[in-house]
Amino acid sequence: MICPDCGFRNAEDANFCQNCGGPLSPTTPQAKETGTSTRLQSNIAGLLCYVLGWVSGLVFVLIERKSQFVRFHAWQSIITFGGLTIISSILEPIPFIGGVTGLLIGLLSLVLWIILMIRAYQDKSYKLPIVGDWAERLARGKLG
Ligand SMILES: [Zn+2]
Repeated sequence: MICPDCGFRNAEDANFCQNCGGPLSPTTPQAKETGTSTRLQSNIAGLLCYVLGWVSGLVFVLIERKSQFVRFHAWQSIITFGGLTIISSILEPIPFIGGVTGLLIGLLSLVLWIILMIRAYQDKSYKLPIVGDWAERLARGKLG
């Protein structure tokens, strides 16, 4: 481990320079993610979980085996957009109410779709209330 400040050669496991006392950066910085099954950047894969709503979420749940980050977004996509799709299709046949809620759910879906894609791309595990907790448990493979 060579000190970036003074060039002194320290022991490999040293955290501070023995010559000048400055902090040493570790030789192998642990990446926060071990990688994804799809070989995509985890934030790109996270974004793609939302692109086609719950359909793309389902695809990533099935193919992603490594990245907890991606699996979390995949599940959050399924629950969010799957749930909204189910709600609007249940309410749809009801006169007037079906039309109004359909429009509101459509707007809500659009807003969530954009926010979730941006957040995932920025490498943030943006958790929606309630839904995000479910997604987190499902991503870890624990139900309930
Ligand atoms: Zn030094």
